[in-house]
Amino acid sequence: MSKVQAVRPLNVPAVSPRVLWTAAAVVAGLLLLAYLVAFDQGAVSQSGMFLHELMHDGRHLLGVPCH
Ligand SMILES: [Zn+2]
Repeated sequence: MSKVQAVRPLNVPAVSPRVLWTAAAVVAGLLLLAYLVAFDQGAVSQSGMFLHELMHDGRHLLGVPCH
């Protein structure tokens, strides 16, 4: 007859720090992209109107006030 031993619970965190940092980086990147598409008028990107014109259709698609 086999002997049943008590199983110790694993000490595994629900969310690993690596997943947490990856998720934070993705969210930060998406927020930066949303800012560049919706609000940047060349002030932060220092690209003049190039970025504005590049994102122009996306801005109108999202309904962000443009001009
Ligand atoms: Zn426009």
